[in-house]
Amino acid sequence: MALTGLISYFCLPKKQTIYKSMATDTNLLSARLNALSESETLAMTKKARELAAQGHKVISLSVGEPDFQTPQHVKDAAKKAIDDGFSFYSPVPGFPDLRQAIADKLKKENNLDFGPENIVVSTGAKQSIANVLLSIVNPGEEVIIFAPYWVSYVEMVKLAEGRSVIVSGSLENDFKVTAAQLEKAITPKTKAILFSSPCNPTGSVFTEKELRAIGDVVAKHKNIVVIADEIYEYINFEGSHFSIGSIPAIKDQVVTVNGFSKGYAMTGWRVGYIGAPKLIAAACDKIQGQVTSGTCSIAQKAAVAAYKGDLTAPKEMAKAYLRRRDLVVGMLKEIPGLKVNTPQGAFYSFPDVSAYLGKSVNGQKINTAAELSMFILNDVFVSTVGGDAFGAPNNIRISFAASDENLIEAVNRIKTCLAKLQ
Ligand code: PMP
Ligand code: GLU
Repeated sequence: MALTGLISYFCLPKKQTIYKSMATDTNLLSARLNALSESETLAMTKKARELAAQGHKVISLSVGEPDFQTPQHVKDAAKKAIDDGFSFYSPVPGFPDLRQAIADKLKKENNLDFGPENIVVSTGAKQSIANVLLSIVNPGEEVIIFAPYWVSYVEMVKLAEGRSVIVSGSLENDFKVTAAQLEKAITPKTKAILFSSPCNPTGSVFTEKELRAIGDVVAKHKNIVVIADEIYEYINFEGSHFSIGSIPAIKDQVVTVNGFSKGYAMTGWRVGYIGAPKLIAAACDKIQGQVTSGTCSIAQKAAVAAYKGDLTAPKEMAKAYLRRRDLVVGMLKEIPGLKVNTPQGAFYSFPDVSAYLGKSVNGQKINTAAELSMFILNDVFVSTVGGDAFGAPNNIRISFAASDENLIEAVNRIKTCLAKLQ
């Protein structure tokens, strides 16, 4: 046999998978992908956009994003960055001035001691969290996630081939997981703990006392990393924000996640970041360097302006969210059967809709919160998200980051819709 023939014989796969159809056979896709669920927040929002494109008067309360414009001085900084020629790749973890501005902010507002080398800027806090999980989780290791949780946490853990361990906060404790619950859930396989405060989807905010109690548990387990998602920090109706990473005994175990999407109404700009121990920051830099590189250079310069400015804009927006919270919660409480919590932060109401599950309309039985959310969208064109995707199957999430007028109209429509269920 000629040499080339021999080489190709040994290099050929011995058993070839034959796919039924390249276009439709999901066996073609990786097991990793096939295990992944689509983001429910984005799926409902896509459906709402499609209905709107068909001419329906849709009110979209499914995606969690500010309805405000980005502050003018931030927009101006982006325009200047374009004119100044910031059109090249940035360093992978972000421009030095942005990392310094973030380190300064974390020191001043959060009592976190980081230098620029501890900061990695990413394409949104979403990528920041994915970077951290991919950097630290080995296949089969456990990540404790406080429920109700943000939809993407569980799916990101799947991508990292870890195992989510869900610990649910009770309604009586305002959906918040206690230190005792956490302690019970820790095993030798626990690698990380992941939660948001203020919380998406419940709006609950952990107090300093509660976080210190959680810190006491974490301090006993030096191999566990806390991923503290503080993206809603500036939307807090109760007062000051406490960062768990500022507790001295565990500061080397905490990764603080934050960003510009919510506080500065910059969802589309895609700038998020972590403040982390150097080892983890360097690991995220490495991963990001192979997947996306530094986030948009123009957006980074805009983010510098946001943090160099004062807090007028975030505070004004938070004031509007508080007014809307009171409006929406007040109206929802008038709807028979709903159990409505009062969120202390973020911009979501998360009513318990279990009184309506199992009921029917026009011969169609509504079994789950996801089905109820879909029924509301198709019936009265208000998009919400079923709590199933947040680990809370009795609830639906309603964003109140919308105009007062739209919120009033939306809740009235929901009320009319629910009244049809028998
Ligand atoms: N964490 C939570 C709890 C969120 O609600 C969001 C919103 N998408 C993110 C992280 C990610 O934010 P972004 O990627 O827009 O910075
Ligand atoms: N965080 C927002 C939400 O929960 C934005 C959508 C998303 O990225 O999931 O709706």
